[in-house]
Amino acid sequence: MHKVAIVGRPNVGKSSLFNRLIGRREAVVADFPGVTRDVKEHVMLYENHRIVLMDTGGLWSGDEWEQHIRDKAEMAIHDAKCVVFVLDPRDGLNTADYEVAEWLRKIGKPVIVVANKMDSVKHDDVFTAELWALGFDEPVPISAEHARGLDELMRRVLEHL
Ligand code: GDP
Ligand code: MG
Repeated sequence: MHKVAIVGRPNVGKSSLFNRLIGRREAVVADFPGVTRDVKEHVMLYENHRIVLMDTGGLWSGDEWEQHIRDKAEMAIHDAKCVVFVLDPRDGLNTADYEVAEWLRKIGKPVIVVANKMDSVKHDDVFTAELWALGFDEPVPISAEHARGLDELMRRVLEHL
């Protein structure tokens, strides 16, 4: 079964996306960082594909960016086919976003950049423009909360399975 990992700094909406895609409220969604302690795994079905989705939230706890945390995260995504890298571009990117990006580049897995919280179409161009600077492929604008852009995201995921 194919594994897909959801990564990103705290509070960008990883757990919201995870819950939306699996269609249940497995992972805790909260307004403050560091709520998801462990890697959450759940099987989702999409167009006859069974995909194990991983929410790696707890691997980034607040400002900590220590070696053992990175090691844990690396193990979690070791056998993932691709990584969904979630960002919240509404306030611009921050250091933590760039750290995750650098780390992903070193790991070398295919990365799908996702601009979350794009709750309406008018957001898309302004906010996704900056994400090109991360050096990955075309960003996918989505809204986990409003279930926007998820088919496009899954289309991109399927390219890597
Ligand atoms: P995580 O730390 O990356 O797992 O982020 P969470 O899923 O816990 O979400 C953090 C906050 O962002 C919560 O208050 C969510 O309700 C909010 N959020 C998540 N997705 C969206 C979205 O698509 N639009 C908006 N406006 N808020 C969102
Ligand atoms: Mg979370």
